[in-house]
Amino acid sequence: MRILVTNDDGIYSPGIMALAKVAQRFGEVQVVAPDVEQSSMGHAITATRPLYYKKSPITFEGIDAYRVNGTPADCVALGTHLWAKTDVVLSGINMGPNLGNAMWHSGTLAAAKQAVLFGMKGIALSTPAGKTEPDFDQLEPWVEKALNAVINNKDLSLININLPPDPRGIQWTRQSVRLYDGKIVPGIDPMGRKHYWFTVFPLEAAEEGTDRYAVENGYVSITPLRLDLTNEAELTKALQKQPIVS
Ligand code: MN
Repeated sequence: MRILVTNDDGIYSPGIMALAKVAQRFGEVQVVAPDVEQSSMGHAITATRPLYYKKSPITFEGIDAYRVNGTPADCVALGTHLWAKTDVVLSGINMGPNLGNAMWHSGTLAAAKQAVLFGMKGIALSTPAGKTEPDFDQLEPWVEKALNAVINNKDLSLININLPPDPRGIQWTRQSVRLYDGKIVPGIDPMGRKHYWFTVFPLEAAEEGTDRYAVENGYVSITPLRLDLTNEAELTKALQKQPIVS
C-alpha cells in the first residue's frame, strides 16, 4: 500500500511525524506537506500562482519528506501527481480537534476530501491541543488501532478520526451538527489599533452518538463522511411540491 501523509499544521508539526511513524506499519510512506501552517484554510487550492516543492532535510526516520508552498489540498494534488498510484492519503495528526461543524473549516479534512475527489481513500486525524503538546507516544497505539479499523475497509472512503488525550476505547460516530457560534472577539493590538479574532465554539451540549460526544467521553471517534452535500429529504419534498420549476 502506498500512503501519502500530509497535514495543515505544516511539515514541522510534531503531529505529522507521529502519523508518518505509524503509517509505516501499513505500507510505503511519503510525506508531502505545507511549508507553513495552513490551519482553517478549508479546501482552498492555489490557482493563481505556481506551486514548488523542496525536499525537507528534517528526519522522518528514513521517509522521504517534501514541503510545498501551498494548501493541504495542493499537497495532495502535487504529491499524488509526483508519486503515482497512491492508495490512501492520511492527514494530520492535527493539533486541535476537527469535530462537528469544524469540518467546514478544516484544512486537515480537506486534504482527505481531495484524496477522495481523486478516487483514493482519505483519512483525517486530529487531537485536542491545549496548553501542553499532545502526548503522541501515548496516542500511538490508538492511532494504529483506529487506522486498522478503516484503512483496508473497502466500504469506507472518507473518514474523520478524532482522538482524545487518553483514550479508553473507539466508537463509530456521526457528525455533530448542533448549532455553533461563529463569534468575532475584538481586541487592541500593541499599536493601539482595534483587531478581531474569529473564533468558533459549540452552543449546545453534544448529543449521544456524535463525534463530539465520543471525544468528550474519552473515546476515539471514527466518522465515515461523504462528499455529496445534497439534502435528499428536501429534494424529495421540493420535487413533490413542484416537479417542474417554472
Ligand atoms: Mn491545523
